[in-house]
Amino acid sequence: MLLAYVRGPPVAVFAGSWLCSKSPIDGTPVALGEPFGDCDPVVARLMSIATSVRIVKQTGTKVFISRELGEDGVDAAFAGGADGVLEELDYAVGDYRNGVKFVLLEPRDVSDLLNAVRTIAEKARKSFDVLVATDLDKVGVFAPYVDGVVLKGGWVTIEVGEVGYVPEIGRCLYCGVDYLMYSGVLRRCIYCGRKLTKVITSAKPPRSRAVFRSIYRKYVSLNKLRFKIV
Ligand SMILES: [Zn+2]
Repeated sequence: MLLAYVRGPPVAVFAGSWLCSKSPIDGTPVALGEPFGDCDPVVARLMSIATSVRIVKQTGTKVFISRELGEDGVDAAFAGGADGVLEELDYAVGDYRNGVKFVLLEPRDVSDLLNAVRTIAEKARKSFDVLVATDLDKVGVFAPYVDGVVLKGGWVTIEVGEVGYVPEIGRCLYCGVDYLMYSGVLRRCIYCGRKLTKVITSAKPPRSRAVFRSIYRKYVSLNKLRFKIV
């Protein structure tokens, strides 16, 4: 189905290219309102996970996710810049246990968190990193006090809608402009003259964390994105 990104934050992160015949590469930002490919509409859920992770990453917090998201959800999280999978860490829940690197807590509020950390430290007398399991809307409350968050839910809403046509899209990373080529063909940005990058492709890079990370890094500083019809 030909789809556009119709509702959500100004910039979403695309994920789920394996459910598409043509699409952006996983981890590529998509502007609100923009057509993005020929995909199964369930990519909306994956874009929601990827976009939520990116929103948290932009605050400078480390983000982990659980394997409970399923293989597609985990890959989407990596497309959004996730730092790791909880179940692959050496961690203990609620208390320190011999030699673990991380203690995972699920506090009600900040004082609950900080007093728990101190109490655990008194007993453990060992170094450990603190992770908090929380929903997206509470990340800002806990993030300043911990080494990372485990994002459990509260994913940002992303809606996709069917469209009649998906044009070629050329992106200027420098200006944050996508040229939607409904009529003309452009090779260079009309504002800065730089060469445009093709956004939509049928190419499928390997579905690996290294690839997701490199695409995430390519776009990490792209915070504004609008489209222009040409
Ligand atoms: Zn430009």
